[in-house]
This record gives sequence, structure tokens and C-alpha cells, in this order.
Amino acid sequence: MYKKQNLHTHCTFCDGKNTPEEMILEALSKGFDSLGFSSHSYHPYLKTTRINAENEAAYLKEITLLKETYKGQIDIFLGIEYEICSEHTPEGLDYKIGAAHYINTCDGFVTFDVGAEGTQKYVDKYFGGDGLAFSKAYYETVATIPEKGDFDILAHFDLITKNNDSLKFIDTTSPLYKKYATEAIDALAGKIPFFEVNTGAIARGYRTSPYPSLDLLKEFKRRGFGAVITSDCHDKNYLDCHFDEARELLLLAGFKSKFVLTQNGFEEISL
Ligand SMILES: [Zn+2]
Ligand SMILES: [Zn+2]
Repeated sequence: MYKKQNLHTHCTFCDGKNTPEEMILEALSKGFDSLGFSSHSYHPYLKTTRINAENEAAYLKEITLLKETYKGQIDIFLGIEYEICSEHTPEGLDYKIGAAHYINTCDGFVTFDVGAEGTQKYVDKYFGGDGLAFSKAYYETVATIPEKGDFDILAHFDLITKNNDSLKFIDTTSPLYKKYATEAIDALAGKIPFFEVNTGAIARGYRTSPYPSLDLLKEFKRRGFGAVITSDCHDKNYLDCHFDEARELLLLAGFKSKFVLTQNGFEEISL
């Protein structure tokens, strides 16, 4: 059974800094025994952060080749972070992460994940500056992820709070906020088996704690979801950043175990 794994990583095929092989070598030096690649899926919108129609085949080929190259040293898994506005799923994946960085607005699908200043402008433009209205639209979008296919892992559930430490534009203590979030968790229960405790925003300096927040973690626990720990890694130096903190949070929320992907599917291991 694997001791150390990260299934949410980005490389130079999308918006990550390092090549897949650089990521693997770093993972080996950090004692990982398995690693998953989850490039952002192809969609017709913002082109800079995702796989494009031309390099998708090369991504699949490269990761498949690296699986063989490093066989016996580290197990490599081929995945994707599938965006809500994608219309195409590649063949031959080992796992899929479902994510919403986009909301369908009056201008069609537009991403809100554009830095603190950009997010504020987005909320002003599409939601009249109302953070709760933004939250409602986001969680309603997340609730529809299973309509796009079968997913293993739900990505960074409360991603909209990424810049809330600095902007404070969403009152996450509001009963309405909690209602929108828990309605989405209810809608996803039984449809996506795992959610991630994602430490990526800490590594990049946006937040001081992982997604999801502790109170939302407890809601995932109550509804029987399994947890995986990831760092949403865009830079090899952060492959295992704050994993201990993620584990502590899961324990605080009442989880006794987490899940890892193996050659036989997802398996449960104690925290
Ligand atoms: Zn993401
Ligand atoms: Zn990601």
C-alpha cells in the first residue's frame, strides 16, 4: 500500500511549471511511491491554463510512457482535472477529478479564478458585488458536475474562498452561505465518492488553511464521502506541502482514514 501520494498535479502540458519527468524525479526524492497527473481538461475558453486540442494526445502519450519508464520505482497514474465547461473526455484515464473554475454567466462561461483583484471585479460585474449571490451561483454549478460524467474526486470544494482571506467578500459564517454549500454536498453525495483536502492555495500564499473549511469537512464526513489529500501542485517544490496539516484537519473533522488510488482502484488507509 502506498504511503505517499498526490493525485492533483499540473505540469507543463497545462499551467504547471515543471515537466512531468521533473515532477516524478522530485516525487522520488521526497519519498513518494505513487503520483498522479491531472492536467486541466480542454475547453473552448481561457487558453493559457489548460491542455489544448493539439497537445492532449501528447499528454496522454507522455504520461503513459513515463509509467513504463519508472515502473518499479514509482507508480504513475494518468488523470485529468475536468472543467465544468469541457465537452470532451480523453480515453484511457486512470481517474478523473471534477472541478468548477467557471460559472455560466450572462456572457457564457467565465472563470472567476483570476487572482484577488480579478475575482473582485468578477463579483462586481456579474453579482453586483454580492458575495453570497456569487456563492449561490458557484455551489449550484458545482452541484451539476456529475452531469458531465463519472468522477472519482471532487476538486477544491470551496474554491471561491481562495481570496477571501484578503478580500473578505463572502461571509462564510452566514447561514445562507452554509445552506448553499451543504445543498451542493447533498446533491453530490452518492455521485462522486471522494473529495480532496487541497493544500494548493497555502503553497501559493492565498490562504492559511486547506480547502474545504473544517465545518464543511464535517458535512462531507456526515454524508459518507471519502477523503484524499492533494496539494494541487503547479510547482515541484510543493508536491507535499502542508500534507501534515491536511491530515490534522481530517482528524479534527472526525475522519479516521483517507483514500489512495492503487492499481486495484481506490483503497482506504488509516490516517
Ligand atoms: Zn482546480
Ligand atoms: Zn488543479
